[in-house]
Amino acid sequence: MDLRSIYITNGVGAAILLILYFASKTRTLRNRIEDRVYTIMIFGVMLGCVAEVLSYVLDGKTFFGARVLNYVVNTYIFSANVLLVFLLLIYVDLCLYGDKTRIWKRYKPQIIVGVVMILANVVNYFVPISYYISELNVYERRPFSYAYYAVIVYYCVSITVLLKRFEKENGARAFFKFGMFVIPVVVGVGLQFLVYGLSLAWLASAIGLVGLFMMQQNEMAYIDSLVSTYNRQYLDHILAAWISRGETFVGAMVDIDKFKSINDNFGHSVGDEALKDLTRILKQAAKYHEHVFRFAGDEFIVLKLTDTPRGLDRYMKKVKTLVDEFNAEGHIYKLSISYGISFFDNSDVDTFLKEMDDRMYEMKACGKQ
Ligand code: GH3
Ligand code: MG
Repeated sequence: MDLRSIYITNGVGAAILLILYFASKTRTLRNRIEDRVYTIMIFGVMLGCVAEVLSYVLDGKTFFGARVLNYVVNTYIFSANVLLVFLLLIYVDLCLYGDKTRIWKRYKPQIIVGVVMILANVVNYFVPISYYISELNVYERRPFSYAYYAVIVYYCVSITVLLKRFEKENGARAFFKFGMFVIPVVVGVGLQFLVYGLSLAWLASAIGLVGLFMMQQNEMAYIDSLVSTYNRQYLDHILAAWISRGETFVGAMVDIDKFKSINDNFGHSVGDEALKDLTRILKQAAKYHEHVFRFAGDEFIVLKLTDTPRGLDRYMKKVKTLVDEFNAEGHIYKLSISYGISFFDNSDVDTFLKEMDDRMYEMKACGKQ
């Protein structure tokens, strides 16, 4: 790449990151560790864009201090490469589990590898294993530099494993797709590795951070913050999308009986726990593409694409069994639910929702009698 292309690629990267910083500022908190990690990643990649440009500008220049500066810049590039992808791993873990004590317990090998790679920079001053900067200040890649790429791959694999494990334990996080932020990094870094002289890694990392941000914006817009199911807004979106495609589907509205009494007797936070308990049950029963939404308060809606009005019968049976099992465990409150089912076949959303609601209240009335 000529110098002008390097300015443009990395300039675009830095500009994207600047916008990202201001956009993310509205939702980040200084005292939340994952937010701090996110901000560090933004500035770390931004500095990487600057360092990358500098490394090309300095190449071959022999003014006083140019060679030292070239070493400083390359030390940053080599260290930040591994450090920032490691931070990405930590960031994803904190977002998924919200527990910083896991970091040291789970990621010892990754930490050790990271420290070794950073120390290798020091070794490189004495024995040029990763790169060499000649007396004429010309940069030259050495074999150990490939180890940095290997470590980046190792961290990306760790992120993938982490996401898969989380999915297995807790179900998929609908909008948290590793493709949105890992793939841009892998592609950018991979191309830079394959084509010597190409400067894409920092721009690709900036794009990865944008992907991460957008993914989280989607989560904030469409996931209920208390129980982590889809929210009402996403229900409206899915219904509109399915209807526009001419799909037929079945829905169940599920409501907790006498939920107010749990709030009144044990307090609001225990009420919150009861909502989470029911959510867990509704998700646990969802094995065949059932989608769970929190509609309002203690009301949930489950949707499933199907061409039969009985498409949720097996699911609701499983939910009832799980509720009975929950109650048999002897918690301070018991869960009891009523539900109403409706089949959507060329009607309209209002009728569909009203039918579920009416049938749910019929069941509730029967229960009360
Ligand atoms: P019914 O048997 O007829 O369903 O009566 P209910 O007591 O379950 O009452 P209803 O469904 O009419 O009201 C739901 C209550 O849920 C009212 C509201 O105070 C409470 N609520 C709504 N959102 C939340 C929440 O996020 N957390 C808690 N703890 N309570 C909530
Ligand atoms: Mg209720």
